[in-house]
Amino acid sequence: MREKLYRFMSGRNGMDELARMQSWVVLILLLLGLFTRLGIFSILALALMIYMYFRVFSRNTAKRYEENQKYVNFRYNCTVQWNKKKKRMQQMKTYRFFKCPTCKQEVRVPKGHGKIEISCPKCREKFIRKS
Ligand SMILES: [Zn+2]
Repeated sequence: MREKLYRFMSGRNGMDELARMQSWVVLILLLLGLFTRLGIFSILALALMIYMYFRVFSRNTAKRYEENQKYVNFRYNCTVQWNKKKKRMQQMKTYRFFKCPTCKQEVRVPKGHGKIEISCPKCREKFIRKS
């Protein structure tokens, strides 16, 4: 039985990161359908499940790899963006951020020093802002 399955799956894409994420979404959609009793969730879950299995059993592994890679990159970018935002939120308490009027470079200055002259680290332009 195990060998049969192995032979069946050889040359096919199998579960990748994208498929794993899709199976979670299917589960969430099914639960939503269960709780809300809205048919649309079950239909979406079914459609996504069909697509997921299509990818898992697909023999066009190059194409599937590309799709998976896109998803992994997207997820990575989201994490980077999220961490950037989180860091910014933490710094908002103690710093103010200004854009250089000449080169649009972002400049970070400590809060609560009143009116100060800021010199851009990139183009050396000086401008006055309230910190
Ligand atoms: Zn500048």
